[in-house]
Amino acid sequence: MEYLRKLYLENIGIHYLPDIGTQKPGEAMDDTLNCGTLRQLREHIGDCQRCPLFEGRTHIVFGVGNPEADLVFVGEAPGRDEDLKAEPFVGRAGQLLTRIISAMGLTRDDVYICNVIKCRPPNNRDPLPPEIEMCEPFLIEQLRIIRPRVICALGSFASQTLLKSEIRISRLRGQFRDYYGVPLMPTYHPSFLLRNPDAKREVWEDIKKVMELLDLPVPEQDKN
Ligand code: URA
Repeated sequence: MEYLRKLYLENIGIHYLPDIGTQKPGEAMDDTLNCGTLRQLREHIGDCQRCPLFEGRTHIVFGVGNPEADLVFVGEAPGRDEDLKAEPFVGRAGQLLTRIISAMGLTRDDVYICNVIKCRPPNNRDPLPPEIEMCEPFLIEQLRIIRPRVICALGSFASQTLLKSEIRISRLRGQFRDYYGVPLMPTYHPSFLLRNPDAKREVWEDIKKVMELLDLPVPEQDKN
């Protein structure tokens, strides 16, 4: 029923209703892990061998930042740099994300940063459906524990996974979507921006909407 309602609202052009959200991420899921804290969740994950990605990883890349953040950025999966440092978004794409965060007037310590998949896929290939199935409950639990005011999904993989959508990122981006009552802004992935710098303008438009929702000051000349 909820799915049909969402489909109907999407069809009439409504992507996010601020007042319908009484659920928190994970509450609608039968498989809520019910860890009290991020530390407990990390302990629950342990030396994970639930999917074959453990064979090629150096580290599990759990997530970093403020456990009480208002804003969570969700990416796809760790790359080589992240796998070596056990920290998400530390390579070239990560440096660009850090610049976006500082353009918002924030630091990496103010927000929380994580990925859908916690282990690096070989040669940075796209994660496979069984890997997503195994790992996504950990992301859901992270979001349930943090309960951010806004989620920013970076790129098509994170956006489509969280929203259970096949809509292309070029159409998904730019409007708040509903993630169990939490507004979710899909935008382009920083790796895409490295290849397509012209798209930075669209990402900044999306980020300004996030800033407005969080009551962060948007520079006067940058207002819509
Ligand atoms: N790309 C991602 O999606 N996540 C990272 O942590 C690094 C690059």
